[in-house]
Amino acid sequence: MNLAANHRRQRLQALALELGFLDCKVAQARRLDEESNRLETWLSQGKHGEMSYMERYFEERLDPRRLLDGCRSVIVLLHNYYQTNPSNEAEAGPSDPSLDPLSITPKIALYAQGEDYHRVLKDKMRTLVQRMRGEFGEFSVRVFTDSAPILEKSWAALAGAGWMGKNTNLLQKKTGSYFFLAEILCDLEFTYDHPVRDHCGECNRCVEACPTGALEPYRLDASRCLSYLTIELKNQIPSTFEGQSEGWAFGCDICQEVCPWNRFSVPHQEPRFDPMNPHQPTAGEWLSMTEEEFRNKYKNSPLARTGLQNMQRNIRFVLGKGRG
Ligand code: SF4
Ligand code: SF4
Repeated sequence: MNLAANHRRQRLQALALELGFLDCKVAQARRLDEESNRLETWLSQGKHGEMSYMERYFEERLDPRRLLDGCRSVIVLLHNYYQTNPSNEAEAGPSDPSLDPLSITPKIALYAQGEDYHRVLKDKMRTLVQRMRGEFGEFSVRVFTDSAPILEKSWAALAGAGWMGKNTNLLQKKTGSYFFLAEILCDLEFTYDHPVRDHCGECNRCVEACPTGALEPYRLDASRCLSYLTIELKNQIPSTFEGQSEGWAFGCDICQEVCPWNRFSVPHQEPRFDPMNPHQPTAGEWLSMTEEEFRNKYKNSPLARTGLQNMQRNIRFVLGKGRG
């Protein structure tokens, strides 16, 4: 065993946990040959919808050594974001005919309740790199969180951070799936972690619960997923999805909410992920919101990128009133 690499691995884990990360795993950098066909098929079948950026940097997605010269290791970091979803507290769907539809509270995915995770995780990763340099000396590095051509769930699974479930989220037995992923590529060597086995078994709850039929086991048709339709899609939401929102106006957590492993989720400890707006606007409040109000409430939130116009489009989708 390489003692220096082993010691470095232990210190890395300790530094990551000190900064509030839930877990930290490391895989040896290499080309993900096993993902090549899967990615090619997924793209050629158009399952990525309008996310044309997914088609670019095909080779870089498969091989992190193309993103950082001399890359030896892929460090995978997990950060918990679980909390009670404030938008689940209220009636969220226009299912009760006696209810004024404008008084319902459209749902916002749990991950988007707090400050934009890109900012929070980048800050923490920069601090982690600084502390690593303090202990290990200079090294080459790049940090990513959902922001680069990197197959982050594949790397997380390869590094043993969990298994990729039938809902295509990464799952851990002890914590479920409500965590963000982030990666550090670097030219340091560590001892490496190993993949864990799949614990989905006979369960198929996520596939059965998906309101738009976006899931088949271990495969997501992103172009049908509510997260894509309400966040990534720039144009109108196709009329074929009318009546299928289940009250979700930004993202969707259904395939996580039904997952039995999420019974083990525990609340996060990061104040920046606390709800930025404890009062969740009703549909009526969303539709009458001004750009200035939206900016004030959501400027540092993941909703900012979607913008007020598309949020109002989503609200009309939830209400079943046209395609927005
Ligand atoms: S996020 Fe919602 S729409 Fe997307 S796959 Fe999961 S259950 Fe289906
Ligand atoms: S709901 Fe069941 S099948 Fe789906 S990811 Fe969770 S354990 Fe796996």
